[in-house]
Amino acid sequence: MRDRNKLTGLEERFDLVVDSNDIILERAGILLDEADGVNRTQQPVMPAGFQPPKIVVSSWNRKGSGSGTHSETFRLLHAKNVTRPQLKFKEKVDNSNTPFIPKIFIKPNATKPLPSYFTNKQMRKERPEDLDVPAALADFIHQQRTQEHVDDMFAHPYQYELEHLTTPEILLSKPEPQMYKPIAETKCTFIDTLEDLVAMNEKLCKLSEFAVDLEHHSYRSFLGLTSLMQISTRDEDFIIDTLELRGEMYILNEAFTDPAIVKVFHGADSDIEWLQRDFGLYVVNLFDTHQASRALNLARHSLDHLLKHFCNVESDKRYQLADWRIRPLTDEMVQYARTDTHYLLYIYDCVRAQLLDHHHGQPGLLQSVWNKSKDISLKKYVKPIFTEESYLEVQRKQKKSFNTQQLTAFRLLFAWRDKLARQEDESTGYVLPTHMMNKISEELPKEPQGIIACCNPVPPLVRQQVNELHLLVQQAREMPLLKAEIAAQKTKGLTPVRKPEVTLFGPHDMSRAPGSDHRHFSHDDLPIKQGMLFSDEHKMDVDMQKISCLIAPAKITLFKELEAKNDQDSISSVNMKARRIIESFENPFRMYLPSADVHINKNAKFDPSSKIFEISKRWKLLSIEQQQKEIDAKKKAKEEAKDQAKKATEERNKAKQSYQESLQNVSTVRQQAAESTKGVGQKRQRVASEVGESTPKPSKKLMKTAEKPQKTEPPPQESFTPFDYSQSDLNVFAGAKSKDNTQFDPNRQAHDFRKKRNPKGQKPNFGAGNQSMSYLPGKSERGFRHNWPKR
Ligand code: AMP
Ligand code: MN
Ligand code: ZN
Repeated sequence: MRDRNKLTGLEERFDLVVDSNDIILERAGILLDEADGVNRTQQPVMPAGFQPPKIVVSSWNRKGSGSGTHSETFRLLHAKNVTRPQLKFKEKVDNSNTPFIPKIFIKPNATKPLPSYFTNKQMRKERPEDLDVPAALADFIHQQRTQEHVDDMFAHPYQYELEHLTTPEILLSKPEPQMYKPIAETKCTFIDTLEDLVAMNEKLCKLSEFAVDLEHHSYRSFLGLTSLMQISTRDEDFIIDTLELRGEMYILNEAFTDPAIVKVFHGADSDIEWLQRDFGLYVVNLFDTHQASRALNLARHSLDHLLKHFCNVESDKRYQLADWRIRPLTDEMVQYARTDTHYLLYIYDCVRAQLLDHHHGQPGLLQSVWNKSKDISLKKYVKPIFTEESYLEVQRKQKKSFNTQQLTAFRLLFAWRDKLARQEDESTGYVLPTHMMNKISEELPKEPQGIIACCNPVPPLVRQQVNELHLLVQQAREMPLLKAEIAAQKTKGLTPVRKPEVTLFGPHDMSRAPGSDHRHFSHDDLPIKQGMLFSDEHKMDVDMQKISCLIAPAKITLFKELEAKNDQDSISSVNMKARRIIESFENPFRMYLPSADVHINKNAKFDPSSKIFEISKRWKLLSIEQQQKEIDAKKKAKEEAKDQAKKATEERNKAKQSYQESLQNVSTVRQQAAESTKGVGQKRQRVASEVGESTPKPSKKLMKTAEKPQKTEPPPQESFTPFDYSQSDLNVFAGAKSKDNTQFDPNRQAHDFRKKRNPKGQKPNFGAGNQSMSYLPGKSERGFRHNWPKR
């Protein structure tokens, strides 16, 4: 503080004192936790009325001096008095290592009906035999038998509608910018009940545009959590608690996919994915002001800049990285969140006007922004998939060249981290930050304490599993080094060169048998023969050269195989085997989940007959084929547009009909709201009477009949027929070479696309699901169960 110049006000100095105290107390807290063994139950210690203070503010983009940067970042990561919102989720998060399948099960504003795969999903979810596998795996099994759903499973549910969306004339003509209301005079509603959500949805459905933004949390969750949604209309702001309403958010598809309503976002790329991932929400008719800013070639494209530029509003982006799971939200957080959407519709007007002015009134530039926005809304959420090669991508970014042992350690730690993060539903950065993983791999500590020493602060899960990590590091240390690596280490003056197990390694060398603690022997302890071999420094060098010359070629052929085998055996081959047998009883699909022993065989990925080879190749190819497929799909869509014009009308009617049918069975939004607020009879009446034109909505009569099952009926179990696994081709999961096309193949989409899109093949097939469609939102408790091998 002494160094601060005199201009620094008393207030700022005072802030510094407060800040420093915060930091000291926080550190003390962390150290106490560490001493305590940490990770007690992660239960919150939040007293009633506790107002989470500013400690959650990150240093990101902080205005003013660069003071305290470190401590603030630190503080962000340690906002630990927060309940894990996941605990309240009705449907558990699916972190399994399987591709994402859309969550949608009802499709408002459809011109092409939702494939039966999705409409029947709720029923399938309740099948008891699926309870022990993650939802996505259960779906694989199902499609194994039917084969007909693969295309649908991975397609964008609104692709057809988006591709046939045209920008109406009015949206291409110059608007008169409509000034925003001052924040102080604008009503702001916090929404955390279904009833309020429904009421808001009703309002939104009547508008021609509204602005949307999301806040997200990614540190204490594997996939991330959408924590807040902000919506602004021309007259009011809404803040929606999406952690509370996660299971109900889908109802907003009615407004979000209505092509007659423009949804304005700023930089929607992530938002579009988060909406799909967490709520099954899609956006039809998006306008992205970030794309507009780019097209206008503004100096910067951030929202701050647009706010300054068009509204002369100074925004404070420092809450962007706040822990948005905190409840109740502080006033500052609410203020911040509102600002993100409050001005957006005005900015939308301004940029449209400018885009036209820039182009002398020609709509080309503006049209390009609409098109880019549409492309963004066509984006599909892709779940992070663990493959044999994932670790290489991360490792390459580290700008460190690793030798065989270090790279092995990195690979093993990476697999451990991924597995644990999925299992515990934490981010990989929380489990073990990459820089620490890097440090451990680099140092290859001999003792568990050495691993702890590589981490500061020590991540709770590292401390908890330090012995497991130690085994992994040991395993890596047993990898033979390449000749060049030995030489490199020698020039660096490092000692491992002398390790006898490296130079004397051979297929019949029993000194490397599991359990041997050979490498820990000091020179004095070495067996006599080896002692003689290395008795003299100079002589050793000569011997070393000779020996490594002899070793190098051998490794390529014989030794390499053994080395890989050795990997697996090194812990204890008997234990491993036993474990694998036991696990195979638990879950036949275990091999699709990341587990340490799957990744260990380094050669497998180069062996075309192995399962891992197939899997990794498949995922590599996926992105390429995906692109090709999308190109094909676009071409195809154009070609068929004419032929289908007639059929489309037919389809639309069918879609409407099926939507209506499905509404009979699905308890509707309005019903749910009505249910949840019994006694507010008037409200129910009002809501039910608002039957729209474009989208068929349930009549009162339909609602009444549908109400009963929702309230009382259990899932339709009487009519349930157990799934017959004997019909499935389980060989697929057993690692056989089967090139058979019953195997799950995310790329199949591409091959079958043409056939599938042919109008004959499109059978709306809604009748089938009718009986079992009564969806009980509160009861879909089935969900993710951990199938990881138990330690
Ligand atoms: P925004 O659209 O600016 O409100 O950002 C939405 C969410 O994206 C925030 O809640 C953050 O979780 C995340 N986010 C935004 N900017 C960053 C950043 N620079 N680094 C990491 N996460 C960010
Ligand atoms: Mn945003
Ligand atoms: Zn935001």
